[in-house]
Amino acid sequence: MAYQPIWAEDTSKLNKVELIKLEKDGLDVIRTIIEEYAAGGYASITEDDLNRFKWAGVYEQKPRDGHFMMRVRINSGIVNSAQARVLAGISRDYGRNLLDITTRQAIQFHWLRVEHLPDIFKRLESVGLYSYEACGDCPRTIVGNPLAGIDPNELLDTEALVNQVNDFFLLNRDFSNLPRKFKMSISGNIYNTAHAEINDLAYTPAVKVIDGEEVTGFHVWVGGGLSAKPHLAKRLDVFVRPEDVLKVAVGVVTIFRDYGYREKRHHARLKFLVADWGPEKFLEKLTEIVGELPASGDDKTAGWNAAYFDGVHPQKQSGLNYVGLNVPVGRLTGDEFEELARLSDEYGQGSLRTTMAQNIIFSDIPDTKVDALLAEPLLKRLTPNPNTFMSRTVSCTGNEFCNLAIVETKVRAVRVAEYLDEHVDLNEDIRIHFVGCPNACGQKQIADIGLQGALVKTPEGTVDAFDIAVGGTLGPNAQFNQPLKGRVKGDDVAPVLARLILYYKENRNEGESFNRF
Ligand code: SF4
Repeated sequence: MAYQPIWAEDTSKLNKVELIKLEKDGLDVIRTIIEEYAAGGYASITEDDLNRFKWAGVYEQKPRDGHFMMRVRINSGIVNSAQARVLAGISRDYGRNLLDITTRQAIQFHWLRVEHLPDIFKRLESVGLYSYEACGDCPRTIVGNPLAGIDPNELLDTEALVNQVNDFFLLNRDFSNLPRKFKMSISGNIYNTAHAEINDLAYTPAVKVIDGEEVTGFHVWVGGGLSAKPHLAKRLDVFVRPEDVLKVAVGVVTIFRDYGYREKRHHARLKFLVADWGPEKFLEKLTEIVGELPASGDDKTAGWNAAYFDGVHPQKQSGLNYVGLNVPVGRLTGDEFEELARLSDEYGQGSLRTTMAQNIIFSDIPDTKVDALLAEPLLKRLTPNPNTFMSRTVSCTGNEFCNLAIVETKVRAVRVAEYLDEHVDLNEDIRIHFVGCPNACGQKQIADIGLQGALVKTPEGTVDAFDIAVGGTLGPNAQFNQPLKGRVKGDDVAPVLARLILYYKENRNEGESFNRF
């Protein structure tokens, strides 16, 4: 029997979206799309179901004229070449040959029409991929170590664990109505390749001696998240063996489902419950649900690589390499993605990996084939040796497609990176993130320089502008960036950042880096 929502007993304080979800589960919209809306077209979609489209991984895109964007969940960012070909085909056939890599390792299409969705769902399912619950108030794409299984810096290969947790929650009606979105991260890499602290639930590598034996497992973090009110996740005093990862995830999601806030949408993420309860009370409740867990062990996170892998690097398998490519602001064509699939077959073992910095990794390239791969024409644009600023620029979708955006981001971000590469010579990578509104899909708070779109009045009228914040980082010294005073007009961003970075270059102390000030 499906779970009975305890919050439905008194609906007087629930927000509007909660009422929509109670009336019809978000997941039910998938069938309605297939059986009704695909034939009836855009005009036949009810407003409430349009809200539920997110559970199918689909949002209306700007300017609300019948086109949609779709997000496809990619566990740990790992796809095989057959899956990559299907994604490329969907992009070409229905998405105007456009394909974006998101900051949660997902693939995003634009320009889809509701008539096309059943065929797209079918094509995805044929290779084990799903857009379902990539959006909506449910457990979403689980991010992970894109190097899982090949990583010299991982304590544990987490690919199977991510798949196990994904498979449990995907289309699970006991957990398809959460107060808001729920984001998970599972990585065994010691450089925090899956941005643990900004997730609702995260697992990071740890070891503990239990009954005289050293066990490798995880520490657990809860209540992280960005948006307008960012919170860093809090660590619970527990050690979790790999075989208990799913059990603990179910416990944490259960707490969120049953105790999370449902009155105000902007106060509904798990981070608000964790902030109110504190990690001790949260752990008490978790223990009630899943039973006693060992106390925490030795934390093995040694730093943060910000999910950058560009260049050629040896894998843990001798004689094999992974090659990290730069995809400027995560955007490429379906044709390029198809070619990446071909190259992964020709030079590797048919595996591609997406990163949280919106880039791509080839894996399993034998030493003898590296030079030939690097000489491939596609690697001129998607290069493993990008210019300094282009290599570290991230951008959300912005007002090209996003209905919530205040300003354009992606095109501007590329222009700014190109300008900085032309005008600033720096021997340090500075990460610059653009977001088009306070929702922070481009994770601006963790950037060295974060830019958030806004508007400013000028004598010539209202124009695009950006608020600037500096000094964000994750890992052992995690902190969000701090806002600078003032607001910069969109056209002035590139020269202002150039002056800011040059000032830093000329005045930095010995050993100082940009994100520690
Ligand atoms: Fe849209 Fe804002 Fe998210 Fe950018 S940060 S994609 S503008 S909601």
